[in-house]
Amino acid sequence: MSRFRIAAFVLMMSALGFLAGVVAGRHIELGQVDDKLHGHNARLLAHALRVTQEGQRLMAAATHGAGLCSDSDVATLRVLLFNSLFIRDIGRTLGGTLQCSAAWGELPEPVPLPPPAFTLASGLQLWVGAANIVDRRIIGDMSAYRDVVVFTAPGAFDGFPEPGSGIDAKIVTRDGQHVYRRFGRTHDLDLGRDASIGWGLAPERQAWACAPDEQTDLCVVSRARSDAWFQLPAMVLSVAGALALAFLAGLCVLWRLHAGSAKTELRRAILGGEIKVHYQPLRQLATRRLTGYEALARWRARGRDVSPSLFVPLAEAMGLGRALSRQVTSQALRDLHERLRENPALYVSINVSAADLKDAGYRNFLMDVVSERGLSPANVALEITEGTPLSDGHVLAMVKTMRGKGFKVFIDDFGTGHSNLNYLAEMQADAIKLDRSFTRAIGAEDAGTLIVDHVIDISRELGINLIIEGIETEEQASYLLSRQPSAVGQGWLLGRPVPLENIASD
Ligand code: C2E
Ligand code: MG
Ligand code: MG
Repeated sequence: MSRFRIAAFVLMMSALGFLAGVVAGRHIELGQVDDKLHGHNARLLAHALRVTQEGQRLMAAATHGAGLCSDSDVATLRVLLFNSLFIRDIGRTLGGTLQCSAAWGELPEPVPLPPPAFTLASGLQLWVGAANIVDRRIIGDMSAYRDVVVFTAPGAFDGFPEPGSGIDAKIVTRDGQHVYRRFGRTHDLDLGRDASIGWGLAPERQAWACAPDEQTDLCVVSRARSDAWFQLPAMVLSVAGALALAFLAGLCVLWRLHAGSAKTELRRAILGGEIKVHYQPLRQLATRRLTGYEALARWRARGRDVSPSLFVPLAEAMGLGRALSRQVTSQALRDLHERLRENPALYVSINVSAADLKDAGYRNFLMDVVSERGLSPANVALEITEGTPLSDGHVLAMVKTMRGKGFKVFIDDFGTGHSNLNYLAEMQADAIKLDRSFTRAIGAEDAGTLIVDHVIDISRELGINLIIEGIETEEQASYLLSRQPSAVGQGWLLGRPVPLENIASD
């Protein structure tokens, strides 16, 4: 990775984090706007209901007054007016003319009412923002029912919309056809629209609600705009997002660099012959007599041992699997050839992959080294893991070929793959090596012990030798011995993998 690419990658990730933060912040900001808008809308509806109910209450109380516009009638109207909060005047009509009111008393001349702005189904007539019929200098709302007319106080909705809230609103009939009152710019404000207009982050938010009882023909619709994209939540989140993703990108780069350098080091180790081989004894369980050694690759990088479970697959992925197998094979035979010649019944067991088996180059190399060292193929066992596709016809054929030449073949890590017993029978391997995860379960878990018993039965049925991996305790050894007296074992109890200079000779 060049410096330029690293910088571009980190920058791109920070930009992504920044954008994600802006979007998340915007979401929070709009959530807050929605809360404010819904709160405002609910308060405006509640207030509109109070104003309406007061008007209705006054009309109901004034309806049956005795002696139209008599002194006592006007006095009654005045008492009602005095006790009201949102009504400025209350009057009596006759034949479409105003006769008297609490504020003006009995008029010298009846004043005709103008045509109403609209009439509700209940018969209530309404005038909106109309000039007062007695004195045109006074502008206000008016509603009339039967012979009573009430004038709403111009300040009945003072405080709406709340100052500085930037909210437009209007109070309308349920069908949205008639408007009782407007606050701000409302010509394009409709009932029943969703809270967000357009896509989720659009600046326009709307809320609406209607009176809970169906008889009251009243709804409120409000709108707020939020054009400011970079409010506090977006600011904080975008900076945090940019930093977080830049940090992640940095980690990624470090990891890539590290992995890159690990690969370089492994390549150097394999091609430079730095891989060491340790040997772990395999013994007859009954007599503890040595039957062979397993060759296990060892790599020490930067002062630490790296597990072969990590570097072997990595080497294979890098196309270095064959080089590794050749190195381990030649080193094992170089290290052990004298012991194997002295004791021809002993063998060295080498882990190989399906690719090795299929590779004529590796097979020829193996046979050459065996004969150069004056050994017989029976001194070598090839371990293929059960994870290898044993159903692969080519692998099966190669197993047969190698066995035909006198090499032993073991199925490694048995129980962890998905062997088909038919293939196993056809392959005629010399031994199966029961994976150590099952040995560990002996005595501890019933299911594990059951599997061990089952594998022992399979090996008997197929006439295949059994090697048990991972024997660490005497209890495990004696259990296995009782179940299969001819089994061979491998494990800490019988000997750890050690370098050549420390290996046991018997
Ligand atoms: P494996 O072939 O099943 O080798 C046995 C593993 O079990 C070894 O791990 C060994 O150290 C470990 N072991 C043996 N006895 C005990 C025991 O009693 N308890 C426990 N807990 N572990 C025990 P190691 O050396 O870490 O090797 C891991 C695997 O790496 C091997 O499993 C084998 O699949 C692979 N490997 C090692 N060397 C080579 C190699 O040269 N070529 C290939 N292709 N694979 C290799
Ligand atoms: Mg093995
Ligand atoms: Mg194994």
